[in-house]
Amino acid sequence: MAVAYLNGEWMAPEDAKVSVFDRGFMFGDGIYEVMAVYNGEVFTLDQHLVRLQRSLDAIRVKSPYDEATWLSIITEAVARGNENPAYLYLQVTRGVESPRSHVYPASVQPTVLMTVMAAPILARNEVVPYKVVTKQDIRWSRGDIKVVSLIANGLLKNEAVDAGFDDAVLIRDGAVTEATAANVFIVKDGVVITPPKSNYLLHGITRAHVINLLRASEITIEERSISEEELLAADEVWITSTGHEVWPVGQVNDQVIGNGSAGVIWQAVDELFQASKPGVP
Ligand code: PLP
Repeated sequence: MAVAYLNGEWMAPEDAKVSVFDRGFMFGDGIYEVMAVYNGEVFTLDQHLVRLQRSLDAIRVKSPYDEATWLSIITEAVARGNENPAYLYLQVTRGVESPRSHVYPASVQPTVLMTVMAAPILARNEVVPYKVVTKQDIRWSRGDIKVVSLIANGLLKNEAVDAGFDDAVLIRDGAVTEATAANVFIVKDGVVITPPKSNYLLHGITRAHVINLLRASEITIEERSISEEELLAADEVWITSTGHEVWPVGQVNDQVIGNGSAGVIWQAVDELFQASKPGVP
């Protein structure tokens, strides 16, 4: 059964309530993580905890727990949630402050929310390649911090969906940054390419995992800038995220990618990815 943890208490997710003076609500002043749980184990947990700490440092919130405490709460949440597969959502905001003020309060206890809920991960034969549209990346220049303020990501995604696409690939200064909630990879002449880490894109945990899988394989992977023209001329395009794993893209704008279906290198990487999940023999 789905479960929530809020500031030390366990409850049903629909019963979890925070103050209207929470800075997460007032200012979007918080950070989050989304992790996948497969067969009772959090996938790439260590990497998520490192990014959690990096995000907290970046927004100048002192971690409310040490690493051992995070691990013990996460383990308990997974056991209580008891869903497979599941998503573990973890959010930390700066805390509750009234009256609201842009200046950070001197001492305030961060709000910690965690939920574990069933994850709708599709069988691989149900994966349908996405149609994506390119859009100018209008977001702020700290896309590397996993902040809860996702207004621009939401606007861009919904503009894409309203125009009949599944997602938008974002372009800054002529180069691909990422999708609205995923990283981007292309394949050209057998070489896999993904934009390098920078302050303009999230350092995806799935991105890093896929790069590691590729490095351990025969397939060449390059981390370098990708122009919009290269994206449109790619043999394959994929997006990666905790929720999408490695997802094929069959069309960018009105340009069909390859023959519009999932490519052979995607298939190889998806097989490696599926085999790397916890609990897979
Ligand atoms: N980029 C953005 C903007 C995201 O929101 C996400 C995930 O939600 C990703 C990339 C992929 O990150 P991860 O692989 O860690 O889920």
